[in-house]
Amino acid sequence: MQDVLVIGAGIFGLTLARKLRRARRDVLIAEARAAGAGASATPLGVLAPHAPDNWNPKKEAQFRALVSLPAYLAALEEETGHRIAYRRRGRLVPLTTANQHAAWARRVADARENWRGEAGLSLLERADPDWIAPEAAPFGAALCGLSATVDARAYVAALAASVGDALHTGLTLDRLEPGAAVFATGERIVARLIVLATGAAAFAHLPPAAEGDPAGRGEKGQAAVLRVGRAVADRPLIYHDGTYVVPRGAGQVAVGATSERHFEVDDAVDGLLEERLDRARAICPALAEGAVVERWASVRPRSADRGLTVGTHPSLAGVAVATGGFKTGLAMAHTLDPETLT
Ligand SMILES: Cc1cc2nc3c(=O)[nH]c(=O)nc-3n(C[C@H](O)[C@H](O)[C@H](O)COP(=O)(O)OP(=O)(O)OC[C@H]3O[C@@H](n4cnc5c(N)ncnc54)[C@H](O)[C@@H]3O)c2cc1C
Repeated sequence: MQDVLVIGAGIFGLTLARKLRRARRDVLIAEARAAGAGASATPLGVLAPHAPDNWNPKKEAQFRALVSLPAYLAALEEETGHRIAYRRRGRLVPLTTANQHAAWARRVADARENWRGEAGLSLLERADPDWIAPEAAPFGAALCGLSATVDARAYVAALAASVGDALHTGLTLDRLEPGAAVFATGERIVARLIVLATGAAAFAHLPPAAEGDPAGRGEKGQAAVLRVGRAVADRPLIYHDGTYVVPRGAGQVAVGATSERHFEVDDAVDGLLEERLDRARAICPALAEGAVVERWASVRPRSADRGLTVGTHPSLAGVAVATGGFKTGLAMAHTLDPETLT
């Protein structure tokens, strides 16, 4: 009998598998396609904190996660030799109204108190016109120093290297039976603990959160990568009204992301992405000449409360679930505690 079977090799499944192996559990990871075939391969890789006002336990947990992540990633890089490109580059929010300016000005003191000297929040009267078009930021910009980026694909690749031959691809979960998982190939794996880490697909195995409300659902997102032909690696990322402009290495910038509740094809891109690109170009002049080198789409696991869904299955003995994270899975995954799965 297998000790632990983790199903799904996204950031959640791989993180848990690595932690369980380090706790000397015998782990097998079953993945339908390849490591990072799902939402975890986002080209954005944004690690953004919640706003520092109205502090609450959820914001505190995310703050702690963001602060502890660099050391965790450094250890993973050291172990595997993969470069994950963590960078605390800050996030610029263009301010388009006097009210917005006033709201962000009030948050400066909240950031001082709640971010405890880890990073600051400041207001710029005028953002660099080469990076943010003046007409897109008539009231300047807020600069959030706690925001960072990571190469999500490198992060997944490092985790996959860390778990080594525990990862088995080409295994698509068909159904769960008491104490066992049955795959589309007909293979049946009996395990003491089965962890469902199949991203948005995991919600189908969970009972409703409340009457009529599913435990969670998939929310599709589309993003693109542009080659801009100039050095942008030192720039802060930009966030405005759902649109991210995220500098990467090698003169590339990622742009995203759309949010679709209703969709037919998980990984198809369409006109919504082109609209998002137009919005990004209107904010960031550096994108004007940029050529799109990748268009990408996937489905975010969005639990009913937008948080993490991690723990024992409410009705299936020996089964645990690890998904959720919605738009912040990359910032939170390393905080998963395998103890909560049993
Ligand atoms: C457009 C977009 C942009 C995003 N940007 C960011 C961002 O900037 N920062 C951030 O923190 N988060 C971001 N996210 C969210 C983030 O990607 C998720 O929170 C996180 O990746 C979820 O990880 P996961 O391991 O739960 O799921 P996934 O990465 O989706 O992994 C699930 C895995 O399970 C496998 N699987 C599914 N079904 C089966 C089955 N039946 N049998 C076997 N295997 C199966 C899949 O192939 C996949 O490999 C973004 C998401 C999208 C879509």
